[in-house]
Amino acid sequence: INILGIETSCDETSAAVLRNGRDLLSHIISSQIKTHQKYGGVVPEVASREHILHLQSVVEEALQGAKMEFGDLAGIAVTYGPGLVGSLLVGVAGAKAMAYAAGIPLLGINHLEGHIYANFLHDPELKFPLLALLVSGGHSHLVHFEGHGKYQVLGHTRDDAAGEALDKVARTLGLGYPGGPYIQKAALEGDPHAYEFPRAMLEPGSLDFSFSGVKSAVLNTLNSARMKGETVNVADVAASFQEAIVDVLVRKTLLALEKTKAPTLVLAGGVAANTSLRKRLTEATQKRGVAFSYPPPVLCTDNGAMIAAAGYYRYLAKDYAPWNLNAIPGLNLA
Ligand code: ATP
Ligand code: MG
Ligand code: FE
Repeated sequence: INILGIETSCDETSAAVLRNGRDLLSHIISSQIKTHQKYGGVVPEVASREHILHLQSVVEEALQGAKMEFGDLAGIAVTYGPGLVGSLLVGVAGAKAMAYAAGIPLLGINHLEGHIYANFLHDPELKFPLLALLVSGGHSHLVHFEGHGKYQVLGHTRDDAAGEALDKVARTLGLGYPGGPYIQKAALEGDPHAYEFPRAMLEPGSLDFSFSGVKSAVLNTLNSARMKGETVNVADVAASFQEAIVDVLVRKTLLALEKTKAPTLVLAGGVAANTSLRKRLTEATQKRGVAFSYPPPVLCTDNGAMIAAAGYYRYLAKDYAPWNLNAIPGLNLA
């Protein structure tokens, strides 16, 4: 069973061919980061135009890489939300046309489920129930999965997502876009205890997150130093800020593991590429005898392979999308 996965929700045009949910035959990612870098963030109108320019060649390259034609595919999976509406529409319209012309099913994939399904690419034997910590540019969720497509959201951010906070602080520090990798790099040279930034734990027992407080605390520190004409040690700020974010993510995840007694934890989303977060969760899960898995960095950020993986399980469930599938920019996890 060969599934073509297509992802265009934000600023990556990506396509992948996946065989039987486990063999990634090809994977093409055309990133627009360089185009958006000069604006310090993604410009939606520019993003959709770039997707229009690149989608067809990215899909052709993916098929060539897999030595396939449309006729060899069982179905086409595409992200239909959440994301930028113009960007999503390019992928959805393209996938619909291709699937209809090839006479094969269209599979509509929730981008956030896709992030979590990246874990099934490197470990198709993952057992349920499992707990997923999804931390990306726009979302921070703790999700309990009982089976494929069967899940419950235990907690989510009440304001900024972890990645969003990292990106905003990095921008103020003048580090570049997207901020997560730059914060991680700067933090390597810094002292994580140089600054005491707040850790918002919310009400006792809450599995929700809040990252706007820590973000504001860092921005205030930077602004008041600037007013006084003092220079800050960027590495120390980055290290202390990253530590505060990772601390909260780890503590809430451990609380969720305690509550659910889930034997397995998976990590997903762009922030899941963070080495400090991976290390802390590896240590904590080892101590508790919880199985822990996370995708390689390239499968943490946006990619077509994770969409193909989620599509494969939808295909098995015969859960096909209707031909009038529409982009849903505000789609969330059910
Ligand atoms: P969403 O998936 O919520 O719709 P998105 O698709 O824009 O949002 P992703 O591509 O999943 O987000 O992740 C991008 C985010 O991951 C950015 O905020 C980026 O700074 C962050 N990120 C990437 N690499 C790292 C890293 N090594 N450490 C921390 N954060 C990282
Ligand atoms: Mg991106
Ligand atoms: Fe994403």
